[in-house]
Amino acid sequence: MANKPKFCIDRILPHEALRPQHTVRLRGATRAMAPIGKTWINGSTLRVRFLGGTPDEQAIAREQAGWWQQAANLTFDFNNATNAEIRIAFDSSDGAWSYVGTDCRKIPLNQPTMNLGFLDGGTTAHEFGHAIGLAHEHQNPRGGIQWNEQAVIEELGKSPNFWDEATARHNVLRKYSVDQINGTEFDPDSIMLYFFPASWTRNGIATKANEVLSAMDKQFVAGAKMYPRTGATATSPVALEINAKRRTAASIGKYGEEDLYSFTAPRDGRYRIDTRGPTDVVMKLFGPNSPTALIAEDDDSGIDTNALIHADLTAGQYFVQVRHYNRASGKGRYSIKVQRL
Ligand SMILES: [Zn+2]
Repeated sequence: MANKPKFCIDRILPHEALRPQHTVRLRGATRAMAPIGKTWINGSTLRVRFLGGTPDEQAIAREQAGWWQQAANLTFDFNNATNAEIRIAFDSSDGAWSYVGTDCRKIPLNQPTMNLGFLDGGTTAHEFGHAIGLAHEHQNPRGGIQWNEQAVIEELGKSPNFWDEATARHNVLRKYSVDQINGTEFDPDSIMLYFFPASWTRNGIATKANEVLSAMDKQFVAGAKMYPRTGATATSPVALEINAKRRTAASIGKYGEEDLYSFTAPRDGRYRIDTRGPTDVVMKLFGPNSPTALIAEDDDSGIDTNALIHADLTAGQYFVQVRHYNRASGKGRYSIKVQRL
């Protein structure tokens, strides 16, 4: 085969391999896919550290990360900070892969969150797509792909992937169920789609290798569900008073809208943040003094479908991101409160 498929792994945290990712279906003309709960706070600056690589390889990474930066309200800072959110290895024996969105924050700082074992075409842009929270387009259940499973498993068992059957199933054959994805239509031009030949499918669907972001990729990451230029950002959070007498009332007015809060912990201690009301939200806590340092996330630990986080915090400023998890309407009222225990 002249154009041998090289596949990418969107790395799943071990504890999440056992359960479906929490994702949400959104109505309308959204095409790319984002598992819910993996997005960074809108407007974040993500620092990048190279763990090796030649100047040429690093230049490709900078350039292709920049494609997303042009579209989305995110900034990449290639400052090689030791505690950078994104840490890139260039191990040619380890394929190309990345953790997805804020999962990068759960990886020990001495380990990569992304590997660029090859940099053909738009591979680097594809991996940065994972790093900002996008999933694989070829797993879109709306794609209409009927895999020839045996052919796929056989081919991926050979060089350069050497995957066993379970890995091939996870990375290629498994589809996100419709209510787990944040997108409705299959985009054959997406950078998040990988090249594969028609012999891999039973209904003759093949893909081409996409080497640049598609119009829909750009539209999606700039949309309300990902990183819009307007709306809440880390520089304009709503302040929460600790142990306030009244809960702060809020409302998700639109699908995919993100609400952002901050509070200042005056001293070290145990804090409790929760939501109340009929609205099913997903909550993430970042800090101290950093909107990208993920501390905890929660969906349903609170009352009914509300979110609840208990955390031991040092003094400093914290950020709370609230997004919706509602398959039917995706909006509604809720209240939020932070308490020092
Ligand atoms: Zn991938």
